[in-house]
Amino acid sequence: MSFEVLGLKPELLRAVAEKGYTTPSPIQSQAIPAVLSGRDLIAGAQTGTGKTAAFVLPILQRLTATPQAGRAPRALVLTPTRELAAQVAESARSYGKYIGSRTSVVFGGVSINPQIDSLRAGCDVLVATPGRLLDLAEQRAVDLRSVQCFVLDEADRMLDMGFIHALRRILKLLPAQRQNLMFSATYSEDIRELAKRFLRDPVTVEVAARNATADRVEQTVYRVSKEHKRHLLAHLIDSGNWHQVLVFTRTKHGANRLAQQLESSGIRSAAIHGNKSQGARVRALADFKDNKVVALVATEVAARGLDIKELPHVVNYELPNVPEDYVHRIGRTARAGGTGSAVSLVSPDETSLLRDIERVLRRSIPVAALPAYPVIASPPGSAAAAADRADRPFRQGGGGRHDSQRQHASRPSQAGGHHPRHGRPSSGGGNSQDRGRPSGQRRTGSY
Ligand code: AMP
Repeated sequence: MSFEVLGLKPELLRAVAEKGYTTPSPIQSQAIPAVLSGRDLIAGAQTGTGKTAAFVLPILQRLTATPQAGRAPRALVLTPTRELAAQVAESARSYGKYIGSRTSVVFGGVSINPQIDSLRAGCDVLVATPGRLLDLAEQRAVDLRSVQCFVLDEADRMLDMGFIHALRRILKLLPAQRQNLMFSATYSEDIRELAKRFLRDPVTVEVAARNATADRVEQTVYRVSKEHKRHLLAHLIDSGNWHQVLVFTRTKHGANRLAQQLESSGIRSAAIHGNKSQGARVRALADFKDNKVVALVATEVAARGLDIKELPHVVNYELPNVPEDYVHRIGRTARAGGTGSAVSLVSPDETSLLRDIERVLRRSIPVAALPAYPVIASPPGSAAAAADRADRPFRQGGGGRHDSQRQHASRPSQAGGHHPRHGRPSSGGGNSQDRGRPSGQRRTGSY
């Protein structure tokens, strides 16, 4: 299903498209038509389900049908916390930018005067926390008599935080004739009571919690050829000063190979997969947790059994065949309340896998420009050098280069196309650990 079929105006669809959303979430596809029809609504939906757009978009559209009421707001969204208020206001502003709607936000804990000024300037949508809204109403800084649409967001939390009296007082300031929407993650007896009190013949919508984790993870795609993935990865780890990264490969063999290659680039690595003994797996995991190993390279199945959560970085060295596995993988980076980063290295042959993943996520993953990364050969005769050879699809030209171990790939722009001469095993000796790396960038020596 697309947003177009929901009956939204082109100006709103344009704003949605700019966000990168292609498909409405379940709460959106159910709530938007109901709200557009003018019905009251009670929705069981948690944060992460896309509930904000589910009420902001149709409200904005309904506002375009009536003239502005001077400076007075025509839609009021009540939220229990400042953070949520700020977030909802930000959504209303970005979705409303092409219809020219004005949004103000007011909450406690900050100076009231700028909020009075903003209300005086006028708004169409007002997002507020209850206490501050009542303060403003008492000071006659806000007139709620033009409110046509009232939204109670996170109603259950509102009651938990003891806002029921404030809420009653606010309801009295609103016109009797209005549309009411209520969102709550849970349905307690109190919530049902509240719903009965102020909703009229509401449409009921309930959706399962979406994988909220995926929303908190900063996701990036790099388009890069297969042969260059390891060089880019080594660069990302080095330049980003990553201390702990879980890297997913598709095969056990691939996991071993990559761990060897990363090691030869001076990045402490270990592979973990089904062919390793239990002892080796436990040791690798312990080293990883103790920060003795920077990169843990794992296959999907091996990683599932691991008790490693709250990682700062996850890398999809190869995309999983099953899109849901992507969500599980990146979920590893979700830290309580914080964010993580998930980087996917996508070669041309993986484009359709990426598309499938984006379909499941219902959004596109931003593609980052390739940084200039050094291409470093593995020490001759090493397992990593053999792995390099296995990675290369064909041998280039004739004759080996013995002097240059390293070249800078200056923005290899065509994924999979351009392939600087590199990686040829040298017959030269030297300290493999330091080869080709400026000093100070290395991770070895500190362990
Ligand atoms: P919410 O539940 O409103 O807090 O939204 C959770 C997250 O989902 C936010 O980061 C939104 O930007 C995002 N989101 C909302 N609608 C969609 C959609 N249709 N497709 C993808 N992501 C969405």
